[in-house]
Amino acid sequence: MADKISKSDQEWKSQLTPDQYAVCRQHGTEAPFSGKYAHSKDPGMYVCACCGQPLFDSDTKYDSGSGWPSFYQPADKAHVAENTDATLGMIRTEVLCSKCDAHLGHVFPDGPQPTGLRYCINSCALELKGKE
Ligand code: FE
Repeated sequence: MADKISKSDQEWKSQLTPDQYAVCRQHGTEAPFSGKYAHSKDPGMYVCACCGQPLFDSDTKYDSGSGWPSFYQPADKAHVAENTDATLGMIRTEVLCSKCDAHLGHVFPDGPQPTGLRYCINSCALELKGKE
């Protein structure tokens, strides 16, 4: 396993924007269609906004109509962790960065082939690094 990153709430707060802190460290959700990557088709690698770990390749991004960036698979399965989330009266599968435990979004079984999965991710949990 890769080395984990562990920081205090105070350290995250000073490193992140208020929106990023609310989503990534407090399991928040940005409003749909509000995030900067909701409609982006720019090529590159989406990395964790908290620790920079590569998470999703733009090649796997698709328009789900949800208003959040959607991907059908992670760049590397070992880079995302999953957790059962029973809040809001639903059973959902939470997706986290495996390196720093940032909350990223949720994964649903209604995505396109080849995986049939929809990784529904908050824009502010991501940072797009352009391809060189
Ligand atoms: Fe991370």
